[in-house]
Amino acid sequence: MAKKKPISIQNRDIYQRMNFLYQAQMHYKHLLPCYFNRQMKQVGRKVVLRIDPSIKRTICKKCNALVEFVEYRDKAIFECKICGTRKSFGDKALFNDLNSEIKTL
Ligand SMILES: [Zn+2]
Repeated sequence: MAKKKPISIQNRDIYQRMNFLYQAQMHYKHLLPCYFNRQMKQVGRKVVLRIDPSIKRTICKKCNALVEFVEYRDKAIFECKICGTRKSFGDKALFNDLNSEIKTL
């Protein structure tokens, strides 16, 4: 049986650091998540790495805190609990999981 070659990922350490920062901010409330998310964005920007859109949608553009789902009308609306900024996403294809969760409620 042939040995499988390990998959090499460029900038693996940077991805791991960004992942750590994103996961760490989930355990804190108030202003610390803003700091962690800002650090994550800066680390990614330095090496020119893109943040996955599903993660990017959970971060407030104004203060970098975590946004929370508020309601669903024609679009999914999310609100930042720190600065009050609202963001909405209308592309239903991107939110199939969210739509199925809402229907089950
Ligand atoms: Zn905010």
